[in-house]
Amino acid sequence: MFDSKEPNEVDFISRRMRMVDEQLQPRGITDSAVLAAMRTVPRHEFVPESQVSEAYHDHPLSIGHEQTISQPYIVASMTQELQLDRDSIVLEIGTGCGYQTAVLAEIVRHVYSIEFIPELLRDANDRLERLGYDNVTSMSGDGSFGWAEHAPYDGILVTAAAPSIPPALLSQLAEGGRMCIPLAMSDYSQELFLVKKSDGRITRKSLYAVRFVLLRGSFEG
Ligand code: SAH
Repeated sequence: MFDSKEPNEVDFISRRMRMVDEQLQPRGITDSAVLAAMRTVPRHEFVPESQVSEAYHDHPLSIGHEQTISQPYIVASMTQELQLDRDSIVLEIGTGCGYQTAVLAEIVRHVYSIEFIPELLRDANDRLERLGYDNVTSMSGDGSFGWAEHAPYDGILVTAAAPSIPPALLSQLAEGGRMCIPLAMSDYSQELFLVKKSDGRITRKSLYAVRFVLLRGSFEG
């Protein structure tokens, strides 16, 4: 029997539109490609079943293995900071549930994504494949070393906090490329940084305070 209390696909679409109208646009998300991607990707397909009713709420959610899917605004804001287009090649560190990966895949030519925990990557790949994303290539491993084979990248997006910027990621950033990375300033404080490479020079700017899980592997603090 159809249970009228369970949200259906139409409910999810309207929640997604409301998320964009109420959480993203009023906070300065204006890039039309980012807004279109956030209206399109079915976030409820990426969260554990027990959290589906909260999929479009204005906060992060647990995805198991002590990891989290970021709040919708943070996903949209980091994506917007990279100034991507249809020709961009992007590297993502921390596939997690694959939601941010899907948002990127809606916008760019190709997404390369690295995830430390093989079980999370397997589930993310299943979802991305089921939803028809054919411009994503992923691997399990320590993203601190980047993925030299496919470099340089127009954008690099890191979704776990590092003590400092891993040098491999800087060297794999294209000329004119942008990287968004949370850095742990102390045990209690993290800031999101926008890093740019132009004329071979690196500049970095702090954007705002954030709270991400910590980067693991060789570069953890
Ligand atoms: N973007 C993800 C959120 C991920 S939480 C999402 O939308 O679901 C951070 C992720 O980074 C976790 O899945 C964690 O396992 C992964 N991670 C941590 N250290 C890593 C490393 N060195 N290399 C690759 N992934 C890493």
